[in-house]
This record gives sequence, structure tokens and C-alpha cells, in this order.
Amino acid sequence: MATRFIFITGGVVSSLGKGLASAALGALLQARGYRVRVRKLDPYLNVDPGTMSPFEHGEVYVTDDGAETDLDLGHYERFIGVAATQSDNVTTGRIYSDVLGRERRGDYLGGTVQVIPHVTDAIKKFVTADLLSEDFVICEIGGTVGDIESLPFLEAIRQLGNELGPERAMFVHLTLVPYLASSGELKTKPTQHSVMELQRVGIRPHVLLCRCDRPIPNGERNKIALFCNIRPEAVVPAIDIDTIYQVPISYHEEGFDTQVLTHFGIEAGETPNLDTWREIVGRIREPDGEVTIAVVGKYTDLPDAYKSLSEALAHGGIANHARVNLDWIASEIFEEEDTVEHLNGVHGILVPGGFGERGAEGKIQAVQFAREHNVPYFGICFGMQMAVIEAARNLAGMPEAGSTEFGPCADPVVGLMTEWQQGDAKVQRSSGDNLGGTMRLGAYPASLESRTHIAEIYGLTEIAERHRHRYEVNINYRNTLEGAGLKFSGTSPDGLLPETVELEDHPWFIGVQFHPELKSKPFEPHPLFKSFVAAALDQSRLV
Ligand code: GLN
Repeated sequence: MATRFIFITGGVVSSLGKGLASAALGALLQARGYRVRVRKLDPYLNVDPGTMSPFEHGEVYVTDDGAETDLDLGHYERFIGVAATQSDNVTTGRIYSDVLGRERRGDYLGGTVQVIPHVTDAIKKFVTADLLSEDFVICEIGGTVGDIESLPFLEAIRQLGNELGPERAMFVHLTLVPYLASSGELKTKPTQHSVMELQRVGIRPHVLLCRCDRPIPNGERNKIALFCNIRPEAVVPAIDIDTIYQVPISYHEEGFDTQVLTHFGIEAGETPNLDTWREIVGRIREPDGEVTIAVVGKYTDLPDAYKSLSEALAHGGIANHARVNLDWIASEIFEEEDTVEHLNGVHGILVPGGFGERGAEGKIQAVQFAREHNVPYFGICFGMQMAVIEAARNLAGMPEAGSTEFGPCADPVVGLMTEWQQGDAKVQRSSGDNLGGTMRLGAYPASLESRTHIAEIYGLTEIAERHRHRYEVNINYRNTLEGAGLKFSGTSPDGLLPETVELEDHPWFIGVQFHPELKSKPFEPHPLFKSFVAAALDQSRLV
């Protein structure tokens, strides 16, 4: 069948979970046997989110092909299992930079370059390009209807709706139905206004997805339908639930997938098989045990900054039938307070990816605590670099060991990466390069030494994982550090870039230069997270 497009917009307030809604709808359609792709249009002017602080925008999600994208792409992958690519996320910034680049080259032949048609054409081209005969493309529009910023995107999808017709295009609008405690009522007016706002730009939603903290009675549902000019069955309640992995099941129970298929004139037929999701939810709701993992990082006030990480840890819990409690600790605290006070009794310690000097010493102390107290330690990217510095200082007798990310030092065990192999080509960078899009990004292969802990966990010696870093562990220190007990268990295939390290005399101590959390899925937990949580469970039986 020809590819059909489902556009998802949001209204009333931000943070209603459009990304999750898109991902869960994708999972539902997939459970019915359809091929699904999920994309996102982001209205901000940054060319990509790579240079934005995690405080601003949450985690930067990296794809196999090296794009730095919105964290919602992580939800898509975790729900539909299809690896996202460069062509699944675009920002206003990138659209404009392409259009302006073409204008400079003279591609518009002396014409006036305008939002309509040039910018909207570029958006439409993005939405419809690079497809692999998917049955459905779900396209999330970032921002909230009524924002000035999202207007070109809304205009572009309006045009697409018109060009493709309702048989190939559909609009779903996510809104909020708030409960007013003072009057004890659910209010439908914000939804009505949001739909009016959408209609002002020429888009009439076919399905309304209504977020609410409680069931929406038929009276309110009918009222929304009447005022918003849609059928009551197409007003789909999206009630708050305890775990995100229940969302596909709840959507199905509320008839969301049926409404989508009905819109396209497709017979809904048999109910989709959601057993995998039920199994996942069952394990989350009724765990057999629990562990506490300390995540020692920098952006610990904003859990979205580590979205994939917290999900991957939850997946490790699902694999072990255990609940994983996360104890978020800002590493800076160790500069004033003793690590023992905060880390005593935790069953695992994880230092995640990070940038910059602030809090680095605290992370090194957390590594030291884990090493000395035999607590399972998992260092990811920056967390591996800090583990190497800790070993260099405290095991290999190099008190001046550090990373050049923090300035020059006597023993730069972590240094700026200026050149590396990408397939057959050599990539070169210098310290004066642009900051945007110039890291070692995306999937790279690594060779693991057989009979190491990490090779045993993967059950493989050749792996590929996603990267996002500018600095690397300096291979020249390999012999010294291995002599002190820190094994370089995996490297790039040419043997030049350390990819993984481990301590031999420790129950579970692994550092990885890549981000395994990006590839973990609830139905396919990443082996490192599965093993780390299992080690934490062992630890919990000891303490
Ligand atoms: N700041 C470090 C680097 O650029 C680590 C990056 C990360 O943890 N993603 O190499």
C-alpha cells in the first residue's frame, strides 16, 4: 500500500508526551503487522540539538549514522525497534540553513526566496524523502500549536494533507483535559481553544488524544466531539498511567489504533498481539527484587538529560525481574561531603556521559569508592575516562593524571582526539574546529579481547556501538595502566582507540567509551545493562 502519513501536533501546554504518543502509536501499528517509521520536526533555530545544554533540551540522542537528534527519537527506537537515521529529525535551523545555502549558490535563479513556498517545500521534501515503502510514517511536530515558531511546519503539513488527501494523510492532535479541584470538574475549554487554533491555520484534526489524570466520562467526551467537530469515538482519552510501556496497551483499549485505521478506510480486523508489552508491564509492576543504583552525574536535577540511560537501567531491571531505583547524585557534592555518606549501601554506581571540568573530581571519587569497596561500577563515556584517571592516579602512581578537556596536565591519560578512522577514511579535527557536529559521532565498530568480562557479557568479540565524544583514552598509557590492573579489553579495530576497560580484581567494573544505553529496548535489554543490574542484585544480597 502507498505510505500513509499521520501528523501529530500538540496543544494547550507543552510536555504532554507527544513523543511517547507517537512512539506508542507506532508500536501499536507495528503490532498489527505494518511497517512503521517515526519522524520529528523541531521548530527551534539550532541546526541540531548537539550544542544545546541538556538543561535546555534534555538528552541528545545519537543515531547510528551519526546525527545528533531530539530525545524523542530515543522513544521511537525503544518502542518500535527501528534504528532512527539522519532523515528522521529536522529542525527549522537545518531547513533554513539548507534553503539559504541554496540561495547563495544561486539555485533559485534570481527569484525571491520566501517561507511559502521555499521553506514549506523543503519541509515537505524532508517529510516524504528517504522512505523504504513504509506503510505508515508518523510525524511529530515539536512545540505547541499557537507558537510563532511552528507555523511553517504547520503550513507544510496542511499542504501535504491537501496534496495527499485524507486517504493518505491524517491529523492527530494531543491536548490536555485538566481537572479543576475547586469545582470538581474536568474542563474541555482548553481543548476547544487549541483545536480552534489549529483550524485557524487550516488543519482539522481527525483524532483528538486527550491527556487527563482520570477517566473522561462520556458527557465530556461528547462535548469535546461536538465543539471540535469530530465523532465522539475519535476523542481518545489518554489517561495518566504508572509506566510508559503500558501506553500502547491503553491506547489500544481506548480504540486509538482502530480510529486511525478507520480514518484510512482499513478494516481493523483482528486485535493486535500486545503480549510483549503485557509481559514488560507485568515485570515492571510486580518485580521479584530491587536494587539501588547511584547515578553520579552533573545534570541530575533534570532526569530528561539522561533519558536513555534511565530507560536502559529500567530495561536491565526488566531482564532481571527487578525494580531498579535510581539515586541521582550531583558529583560536586563529593567535593564537600564524604562519598561514604552518599554511596554506602548502594548496589551499583554509574557515572554517565558528561562534558567539562565541573564535578569531574567528584566523579573520580565515586569511581574510587566503587573500586575500593567492590561495588559494581559502570562508566559510560566520560565515566570510562574518569575511571581511567582514577586508576592512573591511585593504582599506577601518576598523581598528575588528568584529561586535556580540563586544560594541560602532566599525564594526559585522556586527550583530544584529532584523528580517527571512519570506515576507509581518516577523519581529522583540530582544537580550533567548530563545536557543532564535530565529535566522533554515531556507530563505530570495536573489537573485544576474548576471555575478558565484557566479551563474555556480549557473547561476541566484534561489536558496534554509538559514540559521542571529543576526547579519548590515550593508548600510549596502555602498558602502564594494564600493569596496574586496568585491562584495555576492547579497542577500535585498528587498535588505536581504547573502547572498553575493566578491572580484573573486581566483581563488576567496566568502562565503555560509547553509549550502550542508546540501543537498549524494553523488549531487548542491552546485555551490559542486564549484566550490571544482575551484579547489583548480587551486591544487594551481600549488604
Ligand atoms: N567530554 C568527554 C568527551 O568529549 C565525554 C563525552 C561524553 O561523555 N559523551 O570525550
